[in-house]
Amino acid sequence: MNTQDDLRVNSDRLWRDFIELSLIGETRAGGVARLALSNEDLRARLWFANKLEANGLHVYDDDAGNLSGVLSCGNPKAKTLLIGSHLDGVPDGGRYDNSVGIICALECARVIQVAGIKLPFHLEIINFTDGEGCWQSLFGSRALANKLTDNYMSDTPTDYAPFRAALMRAGISPAKVKNAKRNPHHLAGYLEIHIEQGHRLDDAQIPIGIVTDIVGRTTYQMTFYGEAGHSGTTRRENRRDALRGAAEFITQAHRLVEENYPDGVFNCGNILVSPGAFNIIPSEAQLTVECRHYHKRTLADMESRILKLAQDTAIANRLTVSQKREIHMPAAHMSPEIANHIRTACQHLHITYLDIVSYAGHDAQMMFDITPTGMIFIPSKDGISHSPKEFTDWDDVVCGANVLLHTILQIANHYDAK
Ligand SMILES: [Zn+2]
Repeated sequence: MNTQDDLRVNSDRLWRDFIELSLIGETRAGGVARLALSNEDLRARLWFANKLEANGLHVYDDDAGNLSGVLSCGNPKAKTLLIGSHLDGVPDGGRYDNSVGIICALECARVIQVAGIKLPFHLEIINFTDGEGCWQSLFGSRALANKLTDNYMSDTPTDYAPFRAALMRAGISPAKVKNAKRNPHHLAGYLEIHIEQGHRLDDAQIPIGIVTDIVGRTTYQMTFYGEAGHSGTTRRENRRDALRGAAEFITQAHRLVEENYPDGVFNCGNILVSPGAFNIIPSEAQLTVECRHYHKRTLADMESRILKLAQDTAIANRLTVSQKREIHMPAAHMSPEIANHIRTACQHLHITYLDIVSYAGHDAQMMFDITPTGMIFIPSKDGISHSPKEFTDWDDVVCGANVLLHTILQIANHYDAK
């Protein structure tokens, strides 16, 4: 047995990082609020930069504000293995979603550095800007993967001006953001450890999830149009009630997906009704609809049946419906080779694992088609996340960090420097 096999992360050191980071943006409810580009996020970045520097890693930030610490392998021609996640979080969030990925990656770099292990690639620990999409979904990784649209500012749901101001305040020049793109030929891969944010690992009492796919996601604005009228006096056969048709569509769409797509998700998250008074028949009902599935063709099939259902329901209710596709995020598939390395790492550490699909979005989604990408999940107690109640048993965090460490070593040991 060589010494690499015995390497483990330092649980106490990792715990100290976790506690220090939990205090930045801590809320009264015991969680953390650290919105991207807020004062708290900037303080967390400073904390991270100080940690990197104190550990002798080379601190680097790109034009999208992605902040990294690099452990160089000494060969200027070598590629870079990125290990990342995000420090920003949601309002009134928990302590794990926005910290585990970064502190575990940092700890792995420290262990590798202290052990004097020579890797065949540079190891770069990266904090992506706005992983939660408070301004724009997966902004930093999107910029790095060169997937920002030319009008990326005006594509945001929030106003252009505050986003621009927030970027500038953080020292990020909106005009230069696209310079953050990396040449995929310089990358050896991307790894991310994250809490599951679902309940499958917790239910199964299994500490590690090996992510196979991240679901694709499409959103629509659908508006049902009818005719306003007096709610009391309009004859039943003359009513063209937009909300009634919309309501019928929503329940039927849920049933359609439940019965035909066991791994699919349908959600109607909002309804805007007008004119919007108790005594007027609704003439318009605008729905915000989302579909998720990890299989491209199945997602497309699900979407077309849902669109057809909306049309049919409109006709049956003497309504019309408009359907506008808004966001489409294709499904992301993790590298089977990296998944194998994660599996081997688990076996080496005698840790049980489960192949798992991610139903939440992650920076890995931006990376998978530019470089081989892998994701490790650790359990979320009761599947809760984006809440102060977010909790992961500390042993599971340490276990995940060790799997990450040995995955890096596995990748290194099987690395073919092309
Ligand atoms: Zn996250």
